[in-house]
Parts: sequence; C-alpha cells; structure tokens
Amino acid sequence: MTALADLLRKQIKATGPMTLAQYMSACLLHPKHGYYTTQDALGVDGDFTTAPEISQMFGELIGLCLAQSWMDQDAPDRFALVELGPGRGTLIADVMRATLQVPGFHAAAELHLVEASNRMRALQAAALPAHDPTWHDSAETLPEEMPVYVIANEFFDALPIRQFQRDPKGWREVMVGLSEDGGLQRGLSDPVPIDALNNRLDDTVPGALIETCAHATAVVDALARRIAPNGGMALFIDYGGWHSDGDTFQAVRAHRPVDPFAEPGRADLTAHVDFEALARAALIAGCAASQLTNQGVFLERLGITPRAQSLAKSLNGDALDAHVAAHRRLTHPDEMGSLFKVLGLYPVDESPPPGLDP
Ligand code: SAH
Repeated sequence: MTALADLLRKQIKATGPMTLAQYMSACLLHPKHGYYTTQDALGVDGDFTTAPEISQMFGELIGLCLAQSWMDQDAPDRFALVELGPGRGTLIADVMRATLQVPGFHAAAELHLVEASNRMRALQAAALPAHDPTWHDSAETLPEEMPVYVIANEFFDALPIRQFQRDPKGWREVMVGLSEDGGLQRGLSDPVPIDALNNRLDDTVPGALIETCAHATAVVDALARRIAPNGGMALFIDYGGWHSDGDTFQAVRAHRPVDPFAEPGRADLTAHVDFEALARAALIAGCAASQLTNQGVFLERLGITPRAQSLAKSLNGDALDAHVAAHRRLTHPDEMGSLFKVLGLYPVDESPPPGLDP
C-alpha cells in the first residue's frame, strides 16, 4: 500500500467516490507522492521510453520543422519557442542543437517550458545549460504578444481523463471508490444526461465507453488563441486516434502494464489522445488544424532516412545496430510509426508545418 493510496482512501471515505480525472491528477502530480514528482519516469531505467530518448534524430527533425515553419512565416524577429511537458529536456536540447545553424533563429527565440513537476524542471535546466528558459505551470501564462512555436510529445496522454459509459437514460461516469475490504476500485455513477456529450449520441450505443479530457482542450484553446492572431504553429505528437472509443486508461511500470489502482503514485498513468477533440478546440479558437498524420510518415517526409544514413557513416558494431534499430522503432508501422500520430495547428492564412497536410 502506498502513502498516496492511504490518503486517497481517507478522502473517498470522507467525501465519496472521485472521478478518474481527480484520481489521475493525484497519482501523477500530487506534490509529495505523485508519479512525476517522485519517480524517474523516463528512459531505459525508468518506466517508459519516449521518441527523443530513443534517438537524437527525433529532436533534430522536429527542430528543423520548427525552424522551416518560422522561415515560412517570414522569420519573425521575436517568438516564443514552447515545449509542453519536456520530460528530461532531451527533445528541446536536440531542437536547440539542430537549429544552431539556422540564421537568426536562436536570436529571435525565447524559450518557454510548461512543466508541472519541480523534479522534471531541474532535469530540464540541466539539459539546457546554455539557455535560460522560463517555466510555466500552465499554457495560460505563455506570452500573448508574439508568435508561439510549440512542440508537445507524449504530453497530452498524461492529462487527466474522465470516462463515461452510455446508458439508455444518459451517461454513467466511471468513478474511483472503495471495495468491501477498503481497496480502491472502479465503479459507475447513477445515469445522468450530459449535454456536452450529445455529439457522441449518433456514433455510440448503450454500453459504449468514451473518454473526455477537459484539460487537453483548455491547453489547445490557450495555444490556438495565441497562434491565430500572432502566428506560429504547434505540433502535437502522441498515441491515440481520431475519436475517443473505448477504455484506453492504462498504467505502466518498468516498461510493463500494471493495475492502475494497485500502487497509486508509483506507475505512469496515461490514456490515448482524442485528436478530433484537440482539432475541434483549435478550430473553435480560430486556428487551422492539419490532417492527422502517422509519426512514421511525418518523420520520413522530414528526411529521417537520409539523416539516419548520414549518421550511420560514423558508426559501427553495436552502436550501428542500435542506430538502425532506433530508426526502425521511430518509423516502422509495427513499432511507433503508426501508433503515434502528429497533429499540427497553424494560422488559417498560412501553410501547415512541414510534413503535414492541410
Ligand atoms: N515530452 C517528453 C516527456 C513526456 S512525459 C518526452 O517526449 O520525452 C510527460 C511530461 O509532462 C513530464 O515532463 C511531466 O512532468 C509533464 N506533465 C505531466 N502532466 C503535466 C501537467 N498537467 N502540466 C504540465 N506538465 C505535465
């Protein structure tokens, strides 16, 4: 039993079952016992590995995509370069290195990182010794008077979701309550009509389960309200699909799936990203959204194969094998290539970011 499990059980006893979003927030970001506040989440020794931790090529190509998009929008002389949820800072460090040669890009860029965990902020500072980023708790406080160029890799999947099961009388919400022996367990609320879910009545039948993430749409709204009038773009890379459909709530510890209710605060909790909801939030705020594109296709279009071949020239033995495996892992449809998707936001009168279709 974790200390957080104890706290959550007391809270549920006192005030009743909590939503999955409340449970997920506490597990991931509780100031004393949360997963991102206490654990070494990322990397071979952590619980999961992300694309920038697999190969430097990922961050390099994202960097060139950001820089090309900046040039396509007439290279504004001041802009915010933003990462949401930068983890160990590997991606943004690779972006900065890859764009060093782009004339004027570094001089114009102000670095802004949205990160909730102080522990992660310290890792990010260490990864960026030559830079002086400004950290934010939320996208709401990002600069409003300049273009924003945003990258978010495996950020949206960490945001708290709610789950609803369709019922002939409305929707029942998945709640976290207590079992007879006092353990944490999933249950269902009484059915209630929920107007905000009316758009899902046509494509679901009673018994169907859908997920919503209000936090994600609020972040997209904050970004789109800046990109639409001021310029810039955003790249969201994550696993998920077009439309939430079914239960995708999962826990991972030491690279293996575990029971999300067994050890709150010790496992990473995620859910698939509903890209349609993100695109809709962007359109409502006056931004254009690209077509959803598989990560493998996106990276190929940005030139990952010639980059991989050029890096391979200076490698041999195990290092070469690892490099070839990393290229495959990032792009192959059986690996991350089609599970991970890319959505781009951009001003309606501009072209989508390189690698994406309007
Ligand atoms: N982008 C990185 C790390 C992904 S892990 C990579 O690709 O390697 C998720 C990151 O988002 C972590 O840095 C975590 O601390 C941060 N995070 C999670 N929930 C957050 C929230 N609600 N607000 C801000 N940052 C959050």
